Amino acid sequence: MTTTKHPAIQMENDHIVQAYKRPPFVLTHGKGMTLYDADGKAYQDWVAGIAVNALGYGDPGLIETIQTAAAGLIHTSNLYYTEPQAALAARLCELSFADRVFFCNSGAEAVEGAIKFTRRYHYDREDAVRTEIVCFTNAFHGRTFGALSLTPKEKYQKPFSPLMPGVIVVEHNNIDAADAAITEKTAAVIIEPVQGEGGIRPASNEFLQALRRFCDERGALLIFDQIQCGMGRTGTLWSSEPSGVTPDLQTLAKPLAGGLPIGAILATENVASHIHPGDHGTTFGGGPLITTVAKYVLNRIAEPAFLENVRETGAYLKERLQELNSPLIKEVRGRGLMVGMELTIDVTPIIEKGYEHGLLLVNAGADTIRFVPPLIAQKSDVDVLLERLDAILTKVS
Ligand SMILES: *Cc1c(COP(=O)(O)O)cnc(C)c1O
Repeated sequence: MTTTKHPAIQMENDHIVQAYKRPPFVLTHGKGMTLYDADGKAYQDWVAGIAVNALGYGDPGLIETIQTAAAGLIHTSNLYYTEPQAALAARLCELSFADRVFFCNSGAEAVEGAIKFTRRYHYDREDAVRTEIVCFTNAFHGRTFGALSLTPKEKYQKPFSPLMPGVIVVEHNNIDAADAAITEKTAAVIIEPVQGEGGIRPASNEFLQALRRFCDERGALLIFDQIQCGMGRTGTLWSSEPSGVTPDLQTLAKPLAGGLPIGAILATENVASHIHPGDHGTTFGGGPLITTVAKYVLNRIAEPAFLENVRETGAYLKERLQELNSPLIKEVRGRGLMVGMELTIDVTPIIEKGYEHGLLLVNAGADTIRFVPPLIAQKSDVDVLLERLDAILTKVS
């Protein structure tokens, strides 16, 4: 822990909007799974910039790709054709259910776009009374107005009302409740195949299959928000793969460009054919630099050996966490390198103790520690984590 206060901390306290409570050290560089602070202290990183830094820190191929791309075109706007945007879209379509892609700059923006695409689709079909969107308890879809409206958490929503109307919140993984809520008025159903912020809660395969069936029967669109759980995080490129279900729309962001900001909306032709020039737009989205980098990251993650490592290291992580012998542990959930450990207590003291022990950890809800490391994590990294975590849990309990 920093002994004398770094000047950046005072500057932050004086000049940054205080929307975040930060620990008292300043990060300066990283290598692989490890971040270092200004005092040279090392932290093993189980957060990865909130499930973003899939290739870890200092990846030579990523750095070279960014440097080469930076020497070319950085930004052109969406008024013009560029090769990298088209090539990334083609690759995403090749690797997914999608026929077409719209690029933007963040997760929330991708969710907003998916909402607009849904509205546009039904409007074009002269079915504009269909404006309800079904989401689920513990869902997280972002902080902008549309996305926030689909994030049923009082602390996030209440100070910002009124929100977008027509949102129906249904109990997660409850097929009967979804059956009752999805009607002729439903424009879309949005779900994270594995919930992230809400506590690492996987939707059952049966639940995703039922949602697909209800949407098809009743003319609603199915949106998968794979911003956190997609792109290899759960050990398959898309976290919905085990269910065999494909959506009409899918949002991506977090890891897609290896730490640079990007978002994407993947769509079937059935939906995309209703989006016409002028319907939606973005100044920065899908620029040549960012899409060059994203194509590099996507290709790395889609390699079978890369995904195999996520599955193996993830299974080992889950197994080791389940073996931890602490009365504080309630449940270990998740798949691949997206694992949550629910405790019987608020996890804040564990996260704070983590800093002392050289661990970066993040919560998912008040009582769950979320493990979303760089996807390059190895079993030996898990061993280091478990040794430190065991010591912390013993001290706290
Ligand atoms: C992080 C996240 C978002 C919001 O992404 P931002 O880039 O922070 O706007 C939306 N949905 C899910 C599932 C997320 O994990």
